[in-house]
Amino acid sequence: MIKGEWQWRLRCKVLSLSFSPSNTPHSMSLLNHSCDPNCVIVFEGYQLLLRSVRDIQIGEELTISYIESLMTTSERQKQLMRQYCFECDCLLCQNQEKDAEKLDGEEHVWKEVKDVVNEVRYPKSKEEWEQVLARCQNLLSSNRGRLPDTNIYQLKMLDCAMDACINLECWEEALYYGSRTLGPYRLYYPGFHPLRAVQLMRVGKLQYSQDMFPQALETLKQAYNIMKVTHGTDHSLMQALLEIKEQCEAIMRMQ
Ligand SMILES: [Zn+2]
Repeated sequence: MIKGEWQWRLRCKVLSLSFSPSNTPHSMSLLNHSCDPNCVIVFEGYQLLLRSVRDIQIGEELTISYIESLMTTSERQKQLMRQYCFECDCLLCQNQEKDAEKLDGEEHVWKEVKDVVNEVRYPKSKEEWEQVLARCQNLLSSNRGRLPDTNIYQLKMLDCAMDACINLECWEEALYYGSRTLGPYRLYYPGFHPLRAVQLMRVGKLQYSQDMFPQALETLKQAYNIMKVTHGTDHSLMQALLEIKEQCEAIMRMQ
């Protein structure tokens, strides 16, 4: 079975608009967990799609991740035990892979960032978004040079700052934070991962909106190459991506 060429559709009772491992419906828990799975789940309206993201041999077990990836091995183990009552012994857990990079930087600095990131609840008003952004800006500037963007809490803070800027329509600043997330996303979501495809698409759209057409096209192409495997060419997000990519190509032809 070749990656991206197989998917299984299931109708959901609950509408979920974004990929969220913590929302994995119980029916999908029939599949075993791996922190490095060969399948992913994406939503399309009321439908849940299970898609292969690796070539899978006959008889090979299909796996998905029940939890998010931006955690150290011990945090993943704790969450899996608390929520699903088992201990994961996948290769990533055995090798504690990327744990050192995830917690790189001064410990007292990232612990403060971790606390702030964990405190943020989805803001409901412009004023709340402004408060969130101010907090992120403060910490990001005071921690400059002390915390690499690959530190998972720093990365979550950059994501948070990007979201706040998009909500407040500060496009240039949103692109600045978004661009900084792409390297760490490549590190933590290697291969074909829906979150990386979506992040590339968001950054590509920001580049497009700021007339950075060659850069936007390059970013959108990267998003396309991942999304055709993680979402498939029929997915509505893919249609939206193709539309903006074509607009970008048309503008570049005219220049
Ligand atoms: Zn594992």
